[in-house]
Parts: sequence; structure tokens; C-alpha cells
Amino acid sequence: MPISTTNPATGETLETFEAMDAEEVGKRLERARAAFEEYRTTGFAERADLMRRAADKLEKDRDDIARTVTTEMGKPVTAARAEVAKCVKAMRWYAERAEELLADEYPSQGDVEDSGGTAAYVRYRPLGPVLAVMPWNFPLWQVIRFAAPALMAGNTGLLKHASNVPRTALYLEELFRHAGYPEGCFQTLLIGSGEVEGVLRDPRVAAATLTGSEPAGRSVASVAGDEIKKTVLELGGSDPFLVLPSADLEKAAEVAVTARTQNNGQSCIAAKRFIVHRDVYDEFARLFTDGMRALRVGDPMDESTEIGPLSSERGRADLEELVEDARERGATVLCGGRRPASHPAGWFYEPTVLADVAPGMRIHREETFGPVATLYRVADLDEAIEVANDTDFGLSSNVWTRDRAEQERCVRDLRAGGVYFNGMTASHPAMPFGGVKRSGYGRELSGHGIREFCNITTVWHG
Ligand code: NDP
Repeated sequence: MPISTTNPATGETLETFEAMDAEEVGKRLERARAAFEEYRTTGFAERADLMRRAADKLEKDRDDIARTVTTEMGKPVTAARAEVAKCVKAMRWYAERAEELLADEYPSQGDVEDSGGTAAYVRYRPLGPVLAVMPWNFPLWQVIRFAAPALMAGNTGLLKHASNVPRTALYLEELFRHAGYPEGCFQTLLIGSGEVEGVLRDPRVAAATLTGSEPAGRSVASVAGDEIKKTVLELGGSDPFLVLPSADLEKAAEVAVTARTQNNGQSCIAAKRFIVHRDVYDEFARLFTDGMRALRVGDPMDESTEIGPLSSERGRADLEELVEDARERGATVLCGGRRPASHPAGWFYEPTVLADVAPGMRIHREETFGPVATLYRVADLDEAIEVANDTDFGLSSNVWTRDRAEQERCVRDLRAGGVYFNGMTASHPAMPFGGVKRSGYGRELSGHGIREFCNITTVWHG
């Protein structure tokens, strides 16, 4: 894939970049290593000061960088500005909390004596330069979600961003440099995915984190496994959205529309499969389809646009194949299912709802990365949970019920990294984020996220 900025709303390539050569990459790895040796000795107050300055700068740059994001990957500019605000919040959150989250831990004195010691504690020390392989869908947030905790823990960062968001990738390096971080603390590598293996095998790189597709995750994890390097993987999702009879149906349908179509439907934690109890199915299907049909599709730079184009021609083609396969095998298209006639240029696709989806269809198993929802009618909670778990993914889940016993059942039985009741899955700095099964492993955000790239060191005194 060429490293370039191509506007998904028009299909026009605006700028193409030369990939960095091996010499330049080597220089940057050396800088990351050297920076780590200094930076790891800084205290939390100094790191927090730098992180706050980076947050202030990002906040100041909000409108410009939001337009860059929209130009590169097509999300509505209002959503791009919201993404900036989310990043600023997480940066300030980690600046404030890192010291407390990484405070020394003390086993009980009884256990210390039992080990034959007089004193012992656990210290969270940084690991070293961490390689972050990141996707285009939230091109700021995915990076900050890694960088804020990693830098606060004392690591340095090397970003290999998706090839379609190079301007955003370069901005991120500039952001940290401008905030005053020592040279080499956070750098962007403008390289293709074929160069990732070499970087990951380099002894100066300590660990890696990847957000993206399953094949990319598998490739990075196998190289890292071969090198015995720690990885965190945040891969795809096909999150279920259960609607049970006690739900507030109007609210559920309204949130369902947002949960499915946020970021033009290109979110790993978007709700994708809508599993509805038969007693409320018809009413929910009507409200949900009306909501999807009413969305304003258009130029993502327009302030009133709710759905922009998909990020790439390939992405739209993949989505179209899934819808066609489902249609041929008997699914009913309740709305959408085609490109909007009003936008012949660019990679637009209408918000779509499919009913009568069955296990033999590809769409039943594969992730839909775009504004396409599938509806399932179920007889009871048992069947709802069975359908919800009938997936290779396990990122998050959403359940609409006011019944306490049903809620407890879902927390016990839904195989996912999150269970969100009467609302939609959304990440927050204080909540761990990540999945099970093929959605990946490890956690981002919260105390769990910041500890992923730490050397958890036992200090013991005899
Ligand atoms: P990819 O997984 O291909 O891209 C994500 C990142 O991984 C990019 O930086 C990419 O670089 C890099 N990459 C790709 N292949 C490799 C590899 N073999 N070794 C190392 N790095 C690699 O995602 P796509 O953009 O192709 O999207 C495809 C699907 O992935 C989507 O339809 C969706 O299902 C899923 N996805 C999930 C995301 C999530 O948030 N969990 C985000 C994006 C996609 P480069 O751009 O240079 O190829």
C-alpha cells in the first residue's frame, strides 16, 4: 500500500510520501533507545508536566488536526473534533493518575516473613521502546490510548501508523516534540507493513502493541513470539446488542443507530449484531430502521453530516460483498444496501439494516466495518446469549434490560471483554478496554493498560 493521503470523499490522492529507508529507520531506533536510557530515570511529576503540555497543544490544534483526519479517512469533522477532545482527556487523566496507578505494592508483612525476608515490594519499571502498529479508524485516539500511558510509565514510543493517514502520523510526532519531550521519546516511522517485522526483531525494540485486523495481529504476534517480546493486540469485533422485553425501546433504538454508525460504522466496538426478543422485535426493527434511514449521508466536512464515506475503496468493496452474499442467501434488506445515488464520487455506502440473517451467511461470522446492521429474532434470553456468543470475536457487548437477574446472567455468560447495560460501549480512560477470543488479548486504558508495558519488579530484602 502506498503511503499517501487520499480523500475518501472524492477518491482524489492529495499527497504521496516516500517510505523511510533502512538507514533512517535505524537512526530512529537508536534515538528511541538512547532516549529511553534518559527518560526512564525521570520522575512522574516531570512526565506529567510534559504530557499536560502535549494535551494543551493538541487542544489548541483541534480544528486543524480534525480537518486533516477527516481529509485522510473520511469521518465527519464533528466526530474528528470529538476524537481530539477524547485524546486530550485521556492525556490529562494519565498525567494525573499514573503515579498512583504505578505506586509500589506491598505484600503483607506475614507473607514477607514467610518468604524469609524482612521487607519486599513490587515496583513498576518501564520496559523500553514500544512499537505501536496502529489503524486509521481513530487515527489520533488509537495512538494516544497507547502513548499516554506508555510515556507516563517511562517508555518511549515508535509509531507505525496506517499508510492512509501519514499527515496525522507526522502530526503526532510533532505534537510530542513541540511539548518538549526529549528527542526520540516519540517518533513516527513512515514505513509499509512489510517493514514491521524487521523493526520488531530489532533488539532495541522491547515490545509491541497492535490495533487492527486479525491477519495483521497474527503476523505481529508471531514475530514477537519468536523474539519473546510482549504484545498487546486489539483486533476486530462483532459486538452483540441484545434487546430484551423490559428495555426502553425508543431509547434502545436511538442508541443502536449511534452504536452501529459511529465513525461511519468503522469501529471495532460498534454494535454490529442486533439480537432482539421476539416480543419486542417488530417494534424495535421499525424504530431502528427508521433511525438508520434518517441519517444524513454527505460531505464529511459539512457540519451537519452524520455519515461520511468509508475510508477506502477496498473497505467499501468488502462491505458490499458481505451484503450481496447475505442478500443472495435470503436476507431481507430493510433499508440501504447500496451506494447513495447522491454521491457518485467517493466511497459512500448507505446505512443498511438486514433482517432474516442466518448462520450460513458470511455476514453472520465476519466483521462488518461500515454502516451495516444485522437483525436477529430470538425466543428468550438463552437463545439471545447463544446467538451473541456464536462468533469468533469477543470485544464487548451491549444489553438492554432492566431486569437484575437477566443482567447477572449476561455478566456471567457473555464471552466478551465488556458488558454494557442500557447504553453503548464507549471507551473511557478509567475502564479497561480489550477483548477475548479473536478480538485479541491484553488491555488498554486504566491501571491495567499502563501496567502492560512495565517490568513488574520484585524487590526483596533478606
Ligand atoms: P490492517 O490490520 O491491515 O491495518 C492496521 C495496521 O496494521 C496498519 O498500520 C497496517 O499498515 C498494519 N499492518 C497490516 N498488515 C500488517 C502485517 N502483516 N504486519 C504488520 N503490520 C501490518 O487493517 P485494514 O486497514 O486493512 O482494515 C481491515 C480490517 O481490519 C477492517 O475491515 C476491520 O475489520 C479491521 N480493523 C479493525 C480495527 C480496530 O479498531 N480493531 C481498526 C482497523 C481495521 P498498512 O496500513 O501500511 O497496511
